[in-house]
Amino acid sequence: MIKNPIPWPNGAKCACAITFDIDADSLIHISRPNDSHYRLYPISMGRYGPEVAVPRILETYKRLDIKQSFFVPGWCLEQYAPLMENILREGHEIGHHGLIHEDPIETMGSEQTEAFCRAMEIHARICGRSPSGYRAPVYNITPQVIDLLVKNKFIYDSSMMGDDIPYRLQTTKGSLWEIPVHWGCDDWPPFAHYEEIGYMMPVKAPSTALSAFWEEFEVQYLYGGFFMLIVHPFLTGRLARWHLVDRWLEDTLKNKKVWFAPLEKIVAYIEKLVDDGLYNPRTDKLPYYISQIKP
Ligand SMILES: [Zn+2]
Repeated sequence: MIKNPIPWPNGAKCACAITFDIDADSLIHISRPNDSHYRLYPISMGRYGPEVAVPRILETYKRLDIKQSFFVPGWCLEQYAPLMENILREGHEIGHHGLIHEDPIETMGSEQTEAFCRAMEIHARICGRSPSGYRAPVYNITPQVIDLLVKNKFIYDSSMMGDDIPYRLQTTKGSLWEIPVHWGCDDWPPFAHYEEIGYMMPVKAPSTALSAFWEEFEVQYLYGGFFMLIVHPFLTGRLARWHLVDRWLEDTLKNKKVWFAPLEKIVAYIEKLVDDGLYNPRTDKLPYYISQIKP
């Protein structure tokens, strides 16, 4: 079913990553800039992520001895700096996720360049290094952002949906890896009930929502693929949901041949396979189009 499965290390049948986007309360501030500071309910819902959920998630990862990737807007890096230090101290990765979760489609041009570069400066200051990976807020990556990633020597993006497993993106200015996302592995559809920012999804039971994710895993596992969740601490880090993820992780690590790693480690591993002539990835050439489509 997968034409070019990646030979994972140590006999693993599937590489896995649970990636958290720590958006916190940036979502309400970017959506309702005029009065967000008065809106205590959505602020508190977002702050639940860094204040309650992420420490809980880190505890699970430490107990199970796995390292993972987090994507964080620059504003949240500054706002929750001590938590970011904890994440890094425990060996996890932090990727670029915009400045204050601005939508790249809505901010094309100098506004996007400035936001992107300010977030880079914050990464250098708070994390002590430049990020290797990027995920676009609301997945809305643009050719402009791809160029910024190439220019700033990012090794991967994780915003597009063009394959089941990691693949290459080639532009006229350079190349990078794409670690593909998709809505079936995202917690927004089953859990985001957030009228103030325009989402009113019917909230699903934890077991219903998460079993859909585990079905995605089982098939990736069957075909030697790649399984990634794209989730949010303020949604999937809530008690009943994370309790089930914690149990699933424990069970999966015990009973299956899986490799959990931060995305930058997974990319470095595949890149070495390519360098050693042991793997040939699929490549998408960008841009897909250079002008408006007018049939
Ligand atoms: Zn986000």
